[in-house]
Amino acid sequence: MKYKKFKNGIELSRLGMGTMRMPVVNGNDAEIDFEKAQEIIDICMKSGINYYDTAYVYHEGNSEGFLGKALAKYPRESFYVADKYNLQANPDYREQFDQQLARLQMDYIDFYLLHAIQDSFADEMLENGCISYFDELKKQGKIKYLGFSFHGSPKVLSKLLTVYPWDFVQIQLNYYDWFFSDAKELYEILSDADIPVMVMEPMHGGMLANLEEDAGRILKADNEKASLASWAMRWVMSLDKVQVVLSGMSNTQQTKDNIHTFDQALPLTADDEKRIKKAAETQRAAVAVACTSCRYCCPDCPARLDIPYLIKAYNEAKVGGDWRLEKLMMLPKEKRPSACISCGACTRHCPQGFTIQALMKEMKEKLEKL
Ligand code: SF4
Ligand code: SF4
Repeated sequence: MKYKKFKNGIELSRLGMGTMRMPVVNGNDAEIDFEKAQEIIDICMKSGINYYDTAYVYHEGNSEGFLGKALAKYPRESFYVADKYNLQANPDYREQFDQQLARLQMDYIDFYLLHAIQDSFADEMLENGCISYFDELKKQGKIKYLGFSFHGSPKVLSKLLTVYPWDFVQIQLNYYDWFFSDAKELYEILSDADIPVMVMEPMHGGMLANLEEDAGRILKADNEKASLASWAMRWVMSLDKVQVVLSGMSNTQQTKDNIHTFDQALPLTADDEKRIKKAAETQRAAVAVACTSCRYCCPDCPARLDIPYLIKAYNEAKVGGDWRLEKLMMLPKEKRPSACISCGACTRHCPQGFTIQALMKEMKEKLEKL
């Protein structure tokens, strides 16, 4: 494992373990399969990964409890835990932080973040008193380093940097968003401010590990054995200000592949960079909606639709033909796109800005014609 110096002499592994997508029982996101998930954490610890990221809302509130239990057998000083304050889930930051310590069974949190700030509620975060409260906890040693994760615009990011001397910031960063979204601009703002960058979504929610055939072929032509995920990881690692690259590893194979990539840490050549750009352009032409499967749209959906699953089917149909939507007919009626009531609650939460109700309507109409 490769490490990079942070502050106060501590060294963080370049690869971090994200616990947002742990294996679950019977597809139930709230029920983590402890045995399988513990095996993944053990592989990570053995490989030297020392950064473990969780949040109040992951796995419907069960991620912190799982992580605390899985790490309990290791000395507390052998790993760093990152956890996050989620304004929407519970605005009471005092209560939420106390709950988090209890769930983790720990008496301090190493890296603490304001969770997934978007433009629409950035001001509320700035004004509700949470920053000064967390700063006080930092002085007491209950938080070691304070930062935030961000899904908003460059303008709001610049504003946030003026209100507090953040220790780090976490952004969505991958080669696809670098070329086709504003990831480059966000990264440069942080780089200019000399703030270490924690990376989330290096695979764009898994998309870059499972590129469409033509896009994947461009990378595979260079080295058949190297996984598509390893290309995405190497690209992110090559950026100077990147401190930790988080990966939501949900099985042992993926975990071992990532560890291999970070053990090798092969630098990118100019040729590699050209290939990656070409693969990204080819992927873009093939993919209709670049959903990251973050699931922020799901909790407030009155129809309780599995929105990322439906969008995945939408993308498959865009590339492979409408018949690929047929599999949605296997779902119970109340889980199909036709159950959408166009309320727009999902769209308000989508950090990628998709108009989800329009996608549901389009799928419903296509399904009616099949
Ligand atoms: S618009 Fe449709 S998919 Fe979105 S929250 Fe409302 S019912 Fe759910
Ligand atoms: S539609 Fe948007 S909010 Fe929902 S999972 Fe995809 S990217 Fe996340």
